[in-house]
Amino acid sequence: MSKSVEEEESASARYPTATTVRDFHANVAAVRARIAAAAERAGRDAASVRLLPVSKTVPTDRVRVAIEAGLRVLGENKVQEAVRKHRETGDLDVSWAIIGHLQTNKARDVAAFAHEFQALDRLRVAEALDRRLQAAGRSLDVFVQVNTSAEDSKFGMPPEELSAFLKVMPVYSSLRVRGLMTLAILTPDEARVRGCFRVLRELRDRARADAPDLIGDGELSMGMSGDYEIAVEEGATCVRVGQAIFGARALPDSYYWPEG
Ligand SMILES: *Cc1c(COP(=O)(O)O)cnc(C)c1O
Repeated sequence: MSKSVEEEESASARYPTATTVRDFHANVAAVRARIAAAAERAGRDAASVRLLPVSKTVPTDRVRVAIEAGLRVLGENKVQEAVRKHRETGDLDVSWAIIGHLQTNKARDVAAFAHEFQALDRLRVAEALDRRLQAAGRSLDVFVQVNTSAEDSKFGMPPEELSAFLKVMPVYSSLRVRGLMTLAILTPDEARVRGCFRVLRELRDRARADAPDLIGDGELSMGMSGDYEIAVEEGATCVRVGQAIFGARALPDSYYWPEG
């Protein structure tokens, strides 16, 4: 589904492109202020929410400015783009979080350089990653991605499969499960978005009650530019924010979350 002209215009007006260190400082400060306000509304400590800036589609010259502005961990949806940017910023102090769907044939790349992987949704991917990581003598923080919106177009495992999945994970000893990740349904209907985040929190709570050793710190990675404040109100410990920090993207979201 492509966005209407009005939507495109409002996105670029809402999310102006950051090009200078000053722009990045201002945008990060604005997002952090909104996180703090949302945390306060929910009676939470804002320090318990990590901001993961998402640099997908942003050219490396602007990524370098963002790093200069102090961003030290960046999220990328596609492995190839992350590999390229990792190479092009090799002289700088930055780590990479892969937050998008992974094909097993890309596991070797992720195992070689990623700092964390937030979209683990199949045992075959866990197995492929573990094999590569063991060979490289590395370990990797992972988040298990759950489909909380029941849409075919989103990746992530069905909620009812989570418990069995977590039980198998200790076999893959190079993977450290940190918690759960989700994408809410893309809709202006706030109640439905909130509902997705609640599903993830309840799954985490249940997993903790059933087998606390299997879910790490029980982190919840949820919320992006359009909905991170709701996510923080619902318990997010990591929000993945791209456009509100880097500026509007030209490509529609359907490019990242293809059908089926
Ligand atoms: C792109 C992306 C985000 C960030 O989306 P923005 O609208 O740029 O904030 C978050 N999570 C995932 C998995 C993404 O691919």
